[in-house]
Amino acid sequence: MTLEKIKKAIAAGKLRCPSCHSTILKFEKYLDTADTVWDGAGDTQIEFSGCKVTLVCANGFCDWRQRTEYWENFVQE
Ligand SMILES: [Zn+2]
Repeated sequence: MTLEKIKKAIAAGKLRCPSCHSTILKFEKYLDTADTVWDGAGDTQIEFSGCKVTLVCANGFCDWRQRTEYWENFVQE
């Protein structure tokens, strides 16, 4: 789900590269984080805390890339 959001944000050109201020063109998924939380009563609660991605600027002159799970920080409306 979160991945869909990242895809859409990138497709819509909403993510900005902090280095060259161009639109971030690509991302690579490197991990889905699913934190398993034990509540001690035998039930398992799965909490999806988001997914980690490598944001890749991919504009020709810029080699900026960053691994983050806080990709929303790069969104500019
Ligand atoms: Zn860039």
